[in-house]
Amino acid sequence: MADITVCDFCNVPNPQWSYPCRDFVAPDGVSRSVGNWLACNHCMSLIEGRNKARLLSLAVDAYLLDHPEDILDVNSIREFAEEVHRLFFANITGNPTPTEVPFARA
Ligand SMILES: [Zn+2]
Repeated sequence: MADITVCDFCNVPNPQWSYPCRDFVAPDGVSRSVGNWLACNHCMSLIEGRNKARLLSLAVDAYLLDHPEDILDVNSIREFAEEVHRLFFANITGNPTPTEVPFARA
């Protein structure tokens, strides 16, 4: 069974791009980002255009879709995501490469 991968920013399935990224510890001091970050075409263009505000609002919206109970905490979610994105941009080590598309395999 193929794993379903999702965009690390907006959660759409089967993201097309993989960003090489150094491991880092998230602002909560507990979660760790390990390895590459995946991005869909849309988020990749936002990353390349350094459109961080749009990328942040996509990520917050995607999070709240999965965790609607956290809507009252939206300011701290936004601050957390903003810091994670800042660390992501600080730790990118190269250009994005295309991911393998699972359903294209024989
Ligand atoms: Zn995306």
